[in-house]
Amino acid sequence: MKQIQHPWFATQRIRDDLYCITEPLYTWENRANLWLIKGRDADLLIDTGLGVSSLKLYLADLLDKPLKVVASHVHFDHSGSCHEFDQVYIHQNEHRALCSGDQQMILSAPEIGFVPDSDFAAIPYQGFSACDYEVKACPQAQALQHGDVIDLGNRAFEVMHLPGHSSGSIGLYDASSQQFFSGDVVYDGHLLDDLEDSVISEYLDSMERLLQLKTNEVCPGHYHSFDRRRLTELVRQYIDTRKAPLCPSEK
Ligand SMILES: [Zn+2]
Ligand SMILES: [Zn+2]
Repeated sequence: MKQIQHPWFATQRIRDDLYCITEPLYTWENRANLWLIKGRDADLLIDTGLGVSSLKLYLADLLDKPLKVVASHVHFDHSGSCHEFDQVYIHQNEHRALCSGDQQMILSAPEIGFVPDSDFAAIPYQGFSACDYEVKACPQAQALQHGDVIDLGNRAFEVMHLPGHSSGSIGLYDASSQQFFSGDVVYDGHLLDDLEDSVISEYLDSMERLLQLKTNEVCPGHYHSFDRRRLTELVRQYIDTRKAPLCPSEK
């Protein structure tokens, strides 16, 4: 019998205007970083976790302004609590999937097998079972395009469409602070390009673009943050493995 974990989330204050929220009793391999950025006129939440516990209630004490919620992409570990919020944004390629709760695109359909009971070291509430898990539809979500800007008053985040991991994967870039929120496009761990909606050639193009990005702090969708030097290493590693010829004679 697993313990009930409450609150389900944990928060790390990185700076006055930056918080990282996680779900610590969920497997570290799929545990997403949910980034809360406090702006002057509005706050920005990047990604919303599994949706097995109310993120909106959990965050209530930290929120004192209108909140803009952006899903870096539609996968369940990032989009689960989107349905709880009023102002929700996602790239247009995955907009319909989030609005309708398309469990195939979200990767939460039971037959895909990505959310087993064994990935939960504790449960969020009495009677929780991963077998019944699904991400709720979010019909209020609005579609984003490459180049759109999420404005918080004192700072603004540009939407970069970076497909490959999934068709609607985005990063958010603040040129003034040179901070980059990378979702699942790049993090310091095994990058996934063999999913239903992954396209390696697009992933390679996205990675080439990241080599040009002026950033000094990457806040990723999983694992820890890193600097530009590490970003370049991770991007080059991916490009090298995926561009490597199949046969030594082709080198
Ligand atoms: Zn993903
Ligand atoms: Zn993820």
